[in-house]
Amino acid sequence: MIGTAQKIAIEKTKTSKITSVDFDNLPFGSVFSDHMLVCDYRNGAWEAPKIMPYQPISLDPSAKIFHYGQSVFEGMKAYRDKDHNIWLFRPEDNYKRLNVSSKRMAMPELPKEYFMEGLKTLLQLDRDWIPQSEGSSLYVRPFIFASGRGFHASPADEYKFIIATAPSGAYFSSGKVKVLIEETYSRAANGGVGFAKAGGNYAGQFYPTQLAVEKGYQQVIWTDDNAHEYIEEAGAMNIFVRIKDTLVTGPVSDRILDGITRKSILEIAREEGIPAEVRKLKVNEVVEAAKNGTLKEMFGAGTAAVVSPIAAFGYRGSDYDLPQLEKSYASRFKKRITDIQYNRSEDSFGWRF
Ligand code: PMP
Repeated sequence: MIGTAQKIAIEKTKTSKITSVDFDNLPFGSVFSDHMLVCDYRNGAWEAPKIMPYQPISLDPSAKIFHYGQSVFEGMKAYRDKDHNIWLFRPEDNYKRLNVSSKRMAMPELPKEYFMEGLKTLLQLDRDWIPQSEGSSLYVRPFIFASGRGFHASPADEYKFIIATAPSGAYFSSGKVKVLIEETYSRAANGGVGFAKAGGNYAGQFYPTQLAVEKGYQQVIWTDDNAHEYIEEAGAMNIFVRIKDTLVTGPVSDRILDGITRKSILEIAREEGIPAEVRKLKVNEVVEAAKNGTLKEMFGAGTAAVVSPIAAFGYRGSDYDLPQLEKSYASRFKKRITDIQYNRSEDSFGWRF
């Protein structure tokens, strides 16, 4: 618990926006619930968190977030079951990863109770914003950024931790996601910040992704920054490839984010007896498997879509289609994970919170 000196003060909104929201047609992440949690870091310490009406914040033009991009974030979801209980999926892992990201960006780490108690208090207050329809959820965005002032290129002395939430509809993948294996640009480098959920990592992906979209692909498959020889991630998701019956994903590293969905899939595979290998995966191996018919599935894994099946990939001017399987690993993992998230299964691996 946050000590009494650090009790979370709550200022409730005078006019809830909830009746103006069409919960049957929710876009992703652009309708925001009534409240947000804000916590300031000043004079070397985190101050008491406050919950207040969702609103714009004011910053000095010299705030270091604007100049040096000191910012980290997390992405998670709150789910409502049929009895209106509210659940989170492995939230302590998001907490830990936020601090891993902060450390890499020379930002102060956050005490656990600020994250967990803040999250619980905010979700209790805005629980009516957690949608119930199949596949929909409340997207939760905790983030920390440098609010401290000054043009000097050095870590800020003040930061803000905010949790904002956005009710979001089911993620429908078109079933025809076409991706491009990237050989010019890199998402991450050895010794770099690819393992951190740091804002600038994502900005750096926008331009290569735009170029891929212009060529008719929806997403980029990132390869290593050295010789673009190994498959690393799928857009902002981890990637799994199934060759014959074996599932393969790359090992987490400086360049590959330690995704919570990824590691959940690996544990489920182990439990279900699906052969899974965590090893470096050559682009050539995937292309060869596509050519000889042993490439069965490729899918992205992440909080937003759980799994996002890939229908085809482009590489060096050729497109390779993947078979449409009736009993795919992708749909099996998606069902196992969403059954845990929406409290539809007894066994939860201890992941339901
Ligand atoms: N890779 C990257 C680069 C990501 O941004 C994300 C989303 N957090 C993931 C993988 C998937 O991580 P998770 O399963 O924890 O959402």
